[in-house]
Amino acid sequence: MAEYTQPRVEIVPNLCKACQRCVDVCKPGVIETNLENAFNELGYQWLVYKGEGCTGCGACFYACPEPGAIIVFKRTKAEEDVAGNGKAPK
Ligand code: SF4
Ligand code: SF4
Repeated sequence: MAEYTQPRVEIVPNLCKACQRCVDVCKPGVIETNLENAFNELGYQWLVYKGEGCTGCGACFYACPEPGAIIVFKRTKAEEDVAGNGKAPK
């Protein structure tokens, strides 16, 4: 049985150009500028996931103009079954 996980995103620091489009489309507001005041190889202060609250909607992925910069992890079907109705996945 697949292990239960929450949806989440990862932003690849060196691919992010800090355009903020992902922030604009994220309804729960769970993406922010990195708080370490750090800059990537391209000179941008990349963005990060706050660590909780992502719904896995994918809006940030589609809004991001940089290929590969955002990775969205959704629940698997088996995980949805466990989370949604408590039944064991088939
Ligand atoms: S997948 Fe949706 S909720 Fe999660 S960070 Fe992206 S826009 Fe926000
Ligand atoms: S949309 Fe992409 S490039 Fe722009 S800030 Fe978000 S992750 Fe970075």
